[in-house]
Amino acid sequence: MTIAELTRLIKEKALLLGFNDIGITTPQRLEKEKKAFEHYLANNFQGNMSFLKKTVNQREDIKTIFPEAKSILIVVASYYPKTIQQNAQYAISYYTYGNDYHRIIKNKLKELLLYLQQIKPETKGKIFCDTSPIFEKAYASLTGMGWIGKNTLFIHKQLGSFVFLGGIVSNIELTADKPELKSCPPNCRLCINACPINALKEPYVLDASSCLSYLTIEERNEQSVFHNPTPYIAGCDLCQKACPYNSTSHEADNKWFLPNEYVYWDTHQWNTVNPDTFQNTFKNTIFLRIGYPIVKRNMKLATPIKPPISQNK
Ligand code: SF4
Ligand code: SF4
Repeated sequence: MTIAELTRLIKEKALLLGFNDIGITTPQRLEKEKKAFEHYLANNFQGNMSFLKKTVNQREDIKTIFPEAKSILIVVASYYPKTIQQNAQYAISYYTYGNDYHRIIKNKLKELLLYLQQIKPETKGKIFCDTSPIFEKAYASLTGMGWIGKNTLFIHKQLGSFVFLGGIVSNIELTADKPELKSCPPNCRLCINACPINALKEPYVLDASSCLSYLTIEERNEQSVFHNPTPYIAGCDLCQKACPYNSTSHEADNKWFLPNEYVYWDTHQWNTVNPDTFQNTFKNTIFLRIGYPIVKRNMKLATPIKPPISQNK
């Protein structure tokens, strides 16, 4: 089988499994991304995620974690929801609506790798989804599927930025796609202006330590106090909602991340959730990783949406 045929088969399989898109690139030193990451760390924008400091060299060169690397497959799965939260005065980020994406995407990637191994038994591969020291967004851009936006998120050409990324680095040669030359319009600052706490310091530079996505999920000190002028208690979508490239996100129609029942909760249900109901309701979701005390802390710090006057009576 030729490399081109194998590439075609693996791409077809990825779409059959339910991914919205797949692109392929080759291992390469990501020096520009390394410099940007060092700048980020030098400014302590990583908050308490100090473990990131140890990952600089691995991120720059994927061969330090997978020496036989010859190809990198990047998959895209849209999580744009069909139903939007309407009943509560608290908001949760779209990506928390469904079950925890790490497990779902990794399981699908395992199937994809198995398929590759059935065709080519000598295939070895390492699966990744968000938790490995790999510049996933940079590799996704190199596949031509999209680019990194000024809000620091990967923007897929058709699906926008409400997408999860994952991938496989493998020892098999595949036909690489061409990088995307498109980028954000030079004058657009909609995402930067939409951030209520100026966490986007400048285009392409996020201070994660002040970003609500980080503070509501990664800041695990129950006593922590931070300014939150938004109703978000898990993640934050404001800079993504402002982005014009998300106007077609709804067309993705991915069934993997269907909204769980808590998306329909009203404010009273959120306010009265106890540790037992929390455990049952949020099993298989990212909320369990955040933990009950932190979600309660986030509810105290958030600025709930004011109910309509008619409900206020
Ligand atoms: S996620 Fe929210 S807090 Fe973070 S940069 Fe975007 S708008 Fe700002
Ligand atoms: S809002 Fe504008 S600048 Fe920001 S990511 Fe979207 S296109 Fe780029």
